[in-house]
Amino acid sequence: MNKTLLCFAATAIAFTPSFQATADDHAPPTLAEVADAALVSDTYAWDFVEGVTTEVGPRQAGTEAEERARIWAMDWLEKHGFANIANEPFEMETWVPGTTHSVEILEPFPQPFVIQPLGNSASTGPDGITAEVVEFSSMADLSAAEDGSLAGKIAYISHQMRPSMDGSHYGFAGPVRWFGPSIAASKGAIATVIKSVGTDNSRNPHTGGTSFPARTTPIPAGALSLPDAANLERMFDRAGDRTITMKLVLTPSLLGTTLSGNVVGEIVGSNPDLPPVLLACHLDSWWNAPGAFDDGAGCGIITAAALNVAKTGQPLRTIRVLLAGAEEVGLWGSKAYSEAHIDEPIAVGIESDFGADRIWRFESNFRGSNPDLHGRLADAVARFGVANSSIVASGGADLNIARDQKAAIIDLQQDGTRYFDLHHTPDDTLDKIDPVQLRQNVAVWTTVVGILANEERAIQSGDTIADVGPAIKAAR
Ligand SMILES: [Zn+2]
Repeated sequence: MNKTLLCFAATAIAFTPSFQATADDHAPPTLAEVADAALVSDTYAWDFVEGVTTEVGPRQAGTEAEERARIWAMDWLEKHGFANIANEPFEMETWVPGTTHSVEILEPFPQPFVIQPLGNSASTGPDGITAEVVEFSSMADLSAAEDGSLAGKIAYISHQMRPSMDGSHYGFAGPVRWFGPSIAASKGAIATVIKSVGTDNSRNPHTGGTSFPARTTPIPAGALSLPDAANLERMFDRAGDRTITMKLVLTPSLLGTTLSGNVVGEIVGSNPDLPPVLLACHLDSWWNAPGAFDDGAGCGIITAAALNVAKTGQPLRTIRVLLAGAEEVGLWGSKAYSEAHIDEPIAVGIESDFGADRIWRFESNFRGSNPDLHGRLADAVARFGVANSSIVASGGADLNIARDQKAAIIDLQQDGTRYFDLHHTPDDTLDKIDPVQLRQNVAVWTTVVGILANEERAIQSGDTIADVGPAIKAAR
């Protein structure tokens, strides 16, 4: 056992006092025993998410707060015995939200609403802009508007996002935020206001990134909470021929080029010839919340899984955790990591970035090419209530390297029914995390990572790997 793993042994005693040793005090616990213990008593994941939300809080990409998060995370990894901990910095163009975000209807039914800017929104200037609002009930309606028809106006885009367990409705509603403002700008709009891409009825706007192609000059863009959006839509119903006039003040700004970074750490495997297992999450959050669900929980889950697997003894493959920077604002960290490490093959990538509710479905992209391993993994997590699936896993935002290398990918799908109640809102706070469901995540992840990290054969093909060392062959 190397020094790193000795360090784990001490950590395990300190953090999981209820962990039951096996009959033989010298034999490490089995993976099943460790996963079972995680289900009822894992504290690593909670400790991470509680710590980062309490000691760091909101950590907008490219800012000093995100830098503090990296320092905090590296310290946490070190305290828990990870090896090869590093901050891998990269440059990014940094947008910050500014401090003034206000909107009011001036005519015909004067009243204030609540608004938050979208990432990459332009500024209205401190005095704001006042203009007629034009309503579009869908992206298709907006796209059909005549060029120039929105000159001098504010476009309002409606839609109705519904909760879905697999989060698939984000694909339906998301484009309103991702592309609506740039389409409106291309038709002459001076600003865009959208109904939040969210599913709650709180008076919390959901921020999130929007994008403007190089040829489109960014315009101010913000999101209304769902209740305020409904109010605005009633105004349109009641206004008759009267124009609805809005005053909008959003003061984001661009900081220019700043540094972000990816934090990495490893549980070092016994066979350096075998490509590592990569576990990913993202460390940054939007400015308006401490990012408990998105994605402090995910970083807690992946690091907990790695630590739990280490309790079973040194794995065959290295387990590398990637706590990516600057995901929210455009996957800067995922791209930077892939660029920096493209020539270092990974065996398989898995990401946790969908809150902290339970995992209900197992997917891989090697069910056809390595049915034995897919089947063993699916069977192993069935006891935690996870269903097998024939859906081909495509990986999350921070797994660019797995896609770029055409590596194996696993998706452990979480129940996203309430995810978009909280996503990118001020309500993304620690109290929303259900510790029981968080631990189920850790148990499932521990099981999957433990099997993968001790898999001698190639993950994707199931082929024998010729260079597995003789000592390891003899030992197994
Ligand atoms: Zn996220």
